[in-house]
Amino acid sequence: MHAVILSIGDELALGQTVDTNSAYLAARLAEHGIACLYHLTVADDRAAITRALLDASEHAPLVLVTGGLGPTEDDLTRQALADALDKPLVLDQPSLARIEAIFARRARPMPDRNRVQAMHPANTRIIPNDNGTAPGIRARLGGATLFVMPGVPSEMHAMFAHAVAPELDPGAGHRHVILAATVNTFGRGESDVAQALAELMDRARNPRVGTTVTDGLITVRVRSEAEHHNQAREALDATLHEVERRLAPLAFGRDDRTLAQAAVDLLQARGRTLATAESCTAGLLAKLVTDVAGSSAVYAGGLVTYANATKQALAGVSPATLATHGAVSEPVARELARGALARCPGADLALAITGIAGPAGGTADKPVGTVHLALADRDDLLSLALRLHGDRATIRDRAAKTALQMLRLHLLGESINHLRPTPKVAS
Ligand code: AMP
Ligand code: MG
Repeated sequence: MHAVILSIGDELALGQTVDTNSAYLAARLAEHGIACLYHLTVADDRAAITRALLDASEHAPLVLVTGGLGPTEDDLTRQALADALDKPLVLDQPSLARIEAIFARRARPMPDRNRVQAMHPANTRIIPNDNGTAPGIRARLGGATLFVMPGVPSEMHAMFAHAVAPELDPGAGHRHVILAATVNTFGRGESDVAQALAELMDRARNPRVGTTVTDGLITVRVRSEAEHHNQAREALDATLHEVERRLAPLAFGRDDRTLAQAAVDLLQARGRTLATAESCTAGLLAKLVTDVAGSSAVYAGGLVTYANATKQALAGVSPATLATHGAVSEPVARELARGALARCPGADLALAITGIAGPAGGTADKPVGTVHLALADRDDLLSLALRLHGDRATIRDRAAKTALQMLRLHLLGESINHLRPTPKVAS
């Protein structure tokens, strides 16, 4: 069984409002074992909506529509549905009474325009709306069942739960389950990840495995389909474990888990306390760590050492090191890490970042994107040189995330070489 989801509204088609309804509905449908064939966003254009409804009904037995049921001139979904069905709009008396009652409760007369919200195409069913003035509509169009719901997300969620979801399980016996989860990883390119996953990414495989990249994080999506929940769950778990095994130690968690959360949890598990010294990221690393609730147990604090004089005054970086190697250098990163460790009471680990975020400041031997990270442990001092690409925000973001991943690897007893670019083999 599959479905099509239509979102109606100028603000969505223009990109002023992000279409969250389709994502919500697609996820709910998947829970009912129904795959979404496509989402389509249509402007408030009566003819275009009619075409989209007719087209969707030819492509899927189930069509979910949201938006365009309001009382104003630009809310055209019910008229477009009437056009697609070739039926007139008729008044639903109970809906009109309900809408009038809503206005009576607000001690206001009902504007004439709201009357249209009690209208629906002949031979369709009204779906009452307990949370607003716009009722939904259930219709048959060609071979498809259509549910038209209000665009306001909270009203739509409630209507979906009460009126649509119960109808998606006709007890026909061929109910199908789709379960999905993700594995998150950072520190390697998408093609390296794809290479490690190899045959797991075959399009015909079930569970199906795919990757997406967001802000440098590579998310491996796993989608498992089966007749029964337990089968789907078992296959999903087996594939998730295999993905994690192949991407270890850079895979840091599943679903909504962040890299900072993974690092904070490890600090907690090992009973360690972190300090930071940041130059080009100027507190971004501290922010990522402290975004995690409970980070106060494992984070001592940090230094923002932007200017050279501040690197000397706050972190004790030696003027000679700065003069000889420059602020963006491995020796300065190491002295920053040692300085943060020495000067933040209670810390027994420190991370330092110094780099050139650009757009200015690059030179031939230290181009924009040159970043040095260092990690000081009680009797260990590790450093990592990076050549990052992208704009200022991207370079700062990747530098801070790489520092977190470096910390994670160190706490796991893994080599930070996992974060060094693999040398290209000459052919
Ligand atoms: P409508 O039902 O078209 O009058 O929409 C009512 C409100 O819900 C507007 O503020 C819309 O921006 C919002 N809305 C409509 N469709 C969506 C959608 N697909 N995703 C998120 N918000 C929406
Ligand atoms: Mg609208």
